[in-house]
Amino acid sequence: MDKLVEEICAIPGGEGIRLCIQCGTCTASCPNASRMEHTPRELIAMVRAGMGKEVLSSNSMWLCLSCYLCTVRCPRGIKQTDLMHALECLAVRQHLSTARTRTPIMYRSFSDFVYSIGRVPEMGFMIWFYLLTNPLRALRMIPVMLSLLKHGRISLKARRLRPEAERQLKAILDRAEALGGLS
Ligand code: SF4
Ligand code: SF4
Repeated sequence: MDKLVEEICAIPGGEGIRLCIQCGTCTASCPNASRMEHTPRELIAMVRAGMGKEVLSSNSMWLCLSCYLCTVRCPRGIKQTDLMHALECLAVRQHLSTARTRTPIMYRSFSDFVYSIGRVPEMGFMIWFYLLTNPLRALRMIPVMLSLLKHGRISLKARRLRPEAERQLKAILDRAEALGGLS
């Protein structure tokens, strides 16, 4: 069996990949399929055909909205949403993330903050994300930022968790990473 199929099957929910009958219900249900380089149905066919590199370097799984429509409608009970997240994880592990989507950087910024202070301060998160992607774009966001500040929707203060809560959160994240996630 192809190594990628084995890896996916080892992830809870991923074992369903063998059961797919290629009916296309997931693709027909997916609100973002038209923006994906390969549709949800195609991803499964490609993985089974040994096209792992093409799958993991595509933008498809990064455009998944986690709406679960594919999962609730699949006639074979395949958890396609979990599969999308498993592919994201494998893509990062194999350094095959695509530059055609900024979602991996957004996830990375999010987890950097959670690991370091236990929270995601809106202002810090926005600034960090734009520094990592397109600093000039941050300038265009200044009016939005000021408006959010004015209406109290974001705060300048980066509150930290209490030390004990921070320690507990890090223990949970370390455990999640040990079970196959990524920090
Ligand atoms: S709906 Fe299920 S069985 Fe049909 S193509 Fe998608 S994953 Fe395969
Ligand atoms: S969970 Fe993701 S792949 Fe499934 S239908 Fe929603 S957006 Fe598409």
